[in-house]
Amino acid sequence: MINSSLEYLKGVGPMRAALLNEELGLKTVNDLIYFFPFRYVDRTRFHKINEIDNTNLDIQIIGFVKTIEEHGFGRKKRLVILFSDHENEIELVFFKKIIWIKKIIKLQAKYIIFGKPSFFNGQYSIVHPEMELVDDVNFKKNVKFHPVYHSTEKLKKNNIYSKQIAKIIKNAFLKINNNFHENLSSDIIKKNNFFSRKEALINVHFPENKEKLNRAIYRMKFEELFFLQLSILLNKITLKKIKSNIFKKIDYNFNTVYECLPFTLTNAQKKVIKEIRKDVLSGYKMNRLIQGDVGSGKTIVALMSILMSIDNGFQSALMAPTSVLAFQHYRSIIEYCKNLNLNVSLLTGATKSSEKKQIIKELSTGEIDIIIGTHALIEDNILFKNLGLVIIDEQHKFGVAQRAKLSQKSILSPHVIVLTATPIPRTLAMTFYGDLDVSVIDELPPGRKPIKTVHKFDSDKEGVFLFLKEKLELGEQVYIIFPLIEESEKLDYKNLIDGFNYIDKYFSQFGFVTSMLHGKMSTEDKDRQMNNFLNKKSQILVSTTVVEVGLDVKNASVIMIENAERFGLAQLHQLRGRVGRGNVQSYCILKTPFKLSHEAKYRINVLVESSNGFEISEADLKLRGPGNIMGTKQSGILNLKISNLVKDTDILILARKTAEQLIESDRILNNLENKLIKEFFISNCSEKIKWGRIS
Ligand code: ADP
Ligand code: MG
Repeated sequence: MINSSLEYLKGVGPMRAALLNEELGLKTVNDLIYFFPFRYVDRTRFHKINEIDNTNLDIQIIGFVKTIEEHGFGRKKRLVILFSDHENEIELVFFKKIIWIKKIIKLQAKYIIFGKPSFFNGQYSIVHPEMELVDDVNFKKNVKFHPVYHSTEKLKKNNIYSKQIAKIIKNAFLKINNNFHENLSSDIIKKNNFFSRKEALINVHFPENKEKLNRAIYRMKFEELFFLQLSILLNKITLKKIKSNIFKKIDYNFNTVYECLPFTLTNAQKKVIKEIRKDVLSGYKMNRLIQGDVGSGKTIVALMSILMSIDNGFQSALMAPTSVLAFQHYRSIIEYCKNLNLNVSLLTGATKSSEKKQIIKELSTGEIDIIIGTHALIEDNILFKNLGLVIIDEQHKFGVAQRAKLSQKSILSPHVIVLTATPIPRTLAMTFYGDLDVSVIDELPPGRKPIKTVHKFDSDKEGVFLFLKEKLELGEQVYIIFPLIEESEKLDYKNLIDGFNYIDKYFSQFGFVTSMLHGKMSTEDKDRQMNNFLNKKSQILVSTTVVEVGLDVKNASVIMIENAERFGLAQLHQLRGRVGRGNVQSYCILKTPFKLSHEAKYRINVLVESSNGFEISEADLKLRGPGNIMGTKQSGILNLKISNLVKDTDILILARKTAEQLIESDRILNNLENKLIKEFFISNCSEKIKWGRIS
């Protein structure tokens, strides 16, 4: 019944069924039942006319019709009803159906009117209000919360408004006779004083009063988040059962590098290395996410893990989202490992085909110990002899499938570490990375000076250039970032080139060299330009956001971002993270035009005031919602119908805890008490959430 098609529902039929499917994705009775109102109209409250203000909300008044008059002529003709609540009066105005309304409205009779007041000619009136004669029956019917459902232009054209949807849903309820099976255990229901599923579903669509409505919404949100968390946790358990290699030894390679490090590891770095150590001793596959703000030193943690793998006879792969970053990792790992006898190789889109052939061969024979690269690493013809560990840097830049592919390149599943510098709020992490183990590097290396962030208008150009010159003269280096957004690529590209020419011309008078980097350049060109900057042959790097992730040039002390208003918060934070990596005082200059939107101002302010990645991501989350932060693809899979990961934090935490406790006490949900949960889970959730896992 619950899975039967909408077509056979009273008031639907094949045409409407097709429309509802097309426009709202509703196919079955069950879909309808889970198509929740997006708001409710409170018809329990009656207003007095003198309470009307400019809040622009629907109001409801009970009163009587004092006079009915026609005003104006021709197209300006209108019907004006003077309506009184016994204390004050308001005009109700009709431009359409005048004759009909005149005929049915009764003078002096009692009515409930409902509509949105507007202010016109110095007074409030209501245009085209709903009017209903009051008798006992409709009074009861009306004094409720009315659900409001999303409709679409096309549906409305076919006369399917919120009201019609409500009716169809009511018919669906009638059809299944309100026979909704419980899907939570009585234990959970009792403990949280929840409505039964039936009561909740009825009240979420057709609430009797505010209190019941709130309880119904709460229960439905809980239910949704609970089953989501349950599937994530069960998935995590499955992942944890995958066998993998044991890295028993800590040996020569690890110890040699460790002893020669040019700095001492922070406590946070040590803690994370210990967590990794524990994972790789367990005999089961490691799936660990390392979160650490920009510049917190994730690379060295990755390298130490790679060395553990090598000490135990296994190869390692490190994948980065850009060739620029892969190249940088390659350089720094070679440097760290210079006293070791290791074969480290780099594979990117720019690798020459003869060289690539050689690399492919050496990977398959096991001669290469560490391979560093881009997407090129996941091509089908790349096979390893004994891949023990996969590290994915800046993992948010990769798709799930890409990440998974690399870890399938070995017979026994390799351990996986993903690194991300985009801190995400805990509640999101709980969901999007809920099946991974998470380590946090919550400490920056000592001696870092906070980056000074300032907002400058385009008109300050001269002052800004003088400042840059000052820094350049001290031997420091400068990034200048231009936006390049796909939609306006042509114009952006021109801006970038013009900008480069101007900057190059200006600073070359003082003997400084400018490099340029953008996505359209060939990888060789990129490497050359980047190399020039790394080797200080150039002092200024004009670039698009290709430098956004990972780059580590300690000598760069200023980053200037042109049109900063066009970047998102997370992106600005990442870009800013390119400086402040050494011990010199660093600066981030956010340049914008004078005129800014409200939101852009807010973003710039957040950046100026905070340098804490977590704070910034919270602000970002509030601004853009989880969909945009995690990438619509990922959040779309969640398909949340009623809850909101940002607003319903408390319920989410409760749901997570409840799911954890459940699994702890009854891992495979075999207790009779949990039978209903299991049944619902199997029929509704089992195919969900395969995406959060990384392999
Ligand atoms: P991210 O976490 O952004 O990837 P990196 O790993 O690139 O950061 O490290 C940023 C810089 O900090 C690098 O130049 C690295 O050498 C340096 N670094 C890392 N750990 C420490 C430490 N414990 N003490 C001092 N400097 C460190
Ligand atoms: Mg990094």
